[in-house]
Amino acid sequence: MLDIVLLGSGGGMPMPNRHLSSLLIKYMGRKILFDCGEGCQVAMRKVKSGFKSIDIICISHLHGDHIFGLPGLLSTMGNSQRTLPLTIIGPIGITDVIRGMMVPIAYLPFDIHIIEDPKSPIILNRTNDRLEIVEDDNVANKIILNSLELDHSAPCLGFNMYISRRPKFLPEKAIEKGLPNDLWGLLQNGEIVHYKGKSYGPDMFLGEERKGIKISFITDTRPLKGIIDFIYDSDLFVCEGTYGDNNDIDKAILNKHMTFKEAADLAKSGMVKELLLTHFSTAMENPEEYLDGVKDIFNKTIVGYDGFSKTITYTNSN
Ligand SMILES: [Zn+2]
Ligand SMILES: [Zn+2]
Repeated sequence: MLDIVLLGSGGGMPMPNRHLSSLLIKYMGRKILFDCGEGCQVAMRKVKSGFKSIDIICISHLHGDHIFGLPGLLSTMGNSQRTLPLTIIGPIGITDVIRGMMVPIAYLPFDIHIIEDPKSPIILNRTNDRLEIVEDDNVANKIILNSLELDHSAPCLGFNMYISRRPKFLPEKAIEKGLPNDLWGLLQNGEIVHYKGKSYGPDMFLGEERKGIKISFITDTRPLKGIIDFIYDSDLFVCEGTYGDNNDIDKAILNKHMTFKEAADLAKSGMVKELLLTHFSTAMENPEEYLDGVKDIFNKTIVGYDGFSKTITYTNSN
């Protein structure tokens, strides 16, 4: 289970009632932030999310509406006495941009680890104190983070994350082996236990694989065929819909963005469970008015708004 909060739903410029597109994911007490436009920390204060527990920041691209919030947020995280390292993942050029942003920040009490233009999946594990990048994917609380090159006016990455679900613990197997139940919790957490001179691996007591949760975050881009596979079967597909009106298709093509209809077409082809539209043009005062048009294409569409939140649970409860 995890929680998402759409911190901002705007593209281009921050508006009095609309922060810039940014999404916060909360998982087991820690946080992942997708994009960080100007004023992101103000949006975080509004939803009372706290700053200290962000472990990963994924940046789609280096346009200001997606990154101008970073120096302020990093400073505030420093002032919150964060000492654990932070990882920032982004497209080509992110290292130089972060280095430049650090110039006016005199001191940060934590290290920043940058992953520029990742070419392979990144595996995260929820350890005792944070979400940590690991090499070995045989971990209990695993998140797999993938990126996809998008088609925008700057190098741009889409992201998806898959939160794996641990197989069910089968107590009958532990009873069969004579293991006392105060050791069961360790096995459930994926640890090896030692009892009466023997070692027991967790795999011996677990049932079949269970489906996890998939979230995809695609902004800014034209619709690409590759997006369909990338978002396939997502529980939530967060996608840019810069223009609500289909008549703005020429603008969408010119500025390398999408219309609501194009986002809905992707959602349908990718067979996602739900589409959350975001990154609205400043010219669009009321994005909701275009909702009916897209529901005909993909019924489970939500027009995002600042502060929209949702808890996503595992599909089947067994
Ligand atoms: Zn943008
Ligand atoms: Zn952009």
